[in-house]
Amino acid sequence: MQEKIQPTYYQAKVTCNCGNEFTTGSTKQEIHVEICSKCHPFYTGQQKAVAARGRIEQFNRKYGVQGNN
Ligand SMILES: [Zn+2]
Repeated sequence: MQEKIQPTYYQAKVTCNCGNEFTTGSTKQEIHVEICSKCHPFYTGQQKAVAARGRIEQFNRKYGVQGNN
């Protein structure tokens, strides 16, 4: 087996049907999608991001990482 060739990772430019463009790591240089985080709420990391931010704040509060100590 000679499958040691690593796939090249690009910062792929993703273009969505809604016109949104963003980049993501991929083995392809360009990707076209029909749906993205902007036009499909289910995909959004938004809720997760908010939750994560809340968690980080909790963490910071818990460990006093607020800079005003
Ligand atoms: Zn979209």
